[in-house]
Amino acid sequence: MVRPRLLVVSMSLPVTAKRTGEEAWSFTMSPGGLVSALLGLKEFETKWIGWPGVDVHDAVGKKALSIALAEKGCIPVFLEEVCDQYYNGYCNNILWPIFHYLGTPPEYRNDGTITYQSQYDAYKKANRIFFDVVNEHYQEGDVVWCHDYHVMLLPQYLKEYNSKMKVGWFLHTPFPSSEMYKTLPSRSELLRSVLTADLVGFHTYDFARHFVNACMCILGTEATSEGVVDQGKFTSVEVFPIGIEPERFINTSKLSEVTEYMKKFKSDFGGRKLILGVDRLDTIKGIPHKYQAFEKFLEENEDWRGKVLLLQIAVPTRNGIGEYQKIKDQCHGVVGRINGRFGSISSVPIIHLDCSIHFHQLCALYAITDVLLVTSLRDGMNLVSSEFVACQKGEKGVLVLSEFAGAGQSLGAGALLVNPWNIKEVSNAIGEALIMSPEEKEKKHQINFQYVKTHSTQQWADDFMNKLNEVTSKAELET
Ligand code: UDP
Repeated sequence: MVRPRLLVVSMSLPVTAKRTGEEAWSFTMSPGGLVSALLGLKEFETKWIGWPGVDVHDAVGKKALSIALAEKGCIPVFLEEVCDQYYNGYCNNILWPIFHYLGTPPEYRNDGTITYQSQYDAYKKANRIFFDVVNEHYQEGDVVWCHDYHVMLLPQYLKEYNSKMKVGWFLHTPFPSSEMYKTLPSRSELLRSVLTADLVGFHTYDFARHFVNACMCILGTEATSEGVVDQGKFTSVEVFPIGIEPERFINTSKLSEVTEYMKKFKSDFGGRKLILGVDRLDTIKGIPHKYQAFEKFLEENEDWRGKVLLLQIAVPTRNGIGEYQKIKDQCHGVVGRINGRFGSISSVPIIHLDCSIHFHQLCALYAITDVLLVTSLRDGMNLVSSEFVACQKGEKGVLVLSEFAGAGQSLGAGALLVNPWNIKEVSNAIGEALIMSPEEKEKKHQINFQYVKTHSTQQWADDFMNKLNEVTSKAELET
């Protein structure tokens, strides 16, 4: 039987390409759950369209790369000179901060030579380039699934060209309150484009509600219980909370190599309780807030000094952007202060690492952690929380989770939910988690473990595709 084709479109391909000769390329595959879920949609033949992570300027290199990627079910989008203003500019400098409540468009900050308009023009051009590639590969009956804020104009370009295309769009970040979103000069065009899709998906009810409100306030659309009606056209808006591949974490935690790491780390930490943080070093993750709360905890709980360690894995991200260097310096400064205040000759209370770690080490750390501390100021979902839950064995650890992470809405029942801006509240939650009884920890863990096991990435992808199929079939019957 011929399977229908799914064209997944995202800014980046799930492989990163490296040139090893004039016509030779090597690849590293990103191991994320999203990749395996989308490639694992059995009823579809999936092709992935996106940027290969490198600039290629010569025809020979492009052809060789396209051929090599085709074997992996991937199709490259060459963004060339628009890449910087599109990706670092409009996507990372304008949309990302607004979607995470970090600021207003730079036009109003009056802080540079690159104007809003030129970055938006690059965004439009880049979305056109994505459109050209999709269009070149599209065959009748294909389903196109657009991912994230990088391709908000793509649904409209696709539908204008061929209204019969089945198009879904999913946002992996928060969608902000309409009061925040309204500051975006191109607010209407982006919303109108997204509404041309057949199905629009978000991680949480709040994000979906904010989107529907923004459409009502800005475009004057009507809201129904299932979506939005814009000029007579209905768009389905639904919530699909993404998960992880639980088996990958559960099985890895059982490997002897991981058990060895667990023993080693426990011995390295010298019997101290372990509080773990695992975040990209991004302003949205609230790492300085986490340190301040821990400092407050040590200030107020003299008995715990020397008996607890906060280990923060701060994975490097977007190194080229000044804001990210600033947050790194800020973290180093705060850690130095706290270690200076509360450290001793034999130990310091915080270990802050500017690096990523091996997957087996990560699973081992999750497994021996007493408290996972997530203080995101805003976060689309926060998969680290689910990964921690999946890796627990023996006496369980406690999840202290920001109410501003999407995961707060799904894992809140088995966690201690906190407002990361409230230093005192987070400090108290650390104390509560450290002395929680094994029975209470087990009870909370079971609630979240059931959730994580049943809400896998695979389930998420299946749910989205089933809904897309349902809404497009219904629309076909009505025309
Ligand atoms: N992670 C990683 N290397 C590390 C530490 C973490 O690849 O050294 C992974 C982690 O397992 C998780 C992802 O990075 O899957 C972070 O996802 P999350 O949703 O928590 O945050 P995001 O980085 O997407 O904002």
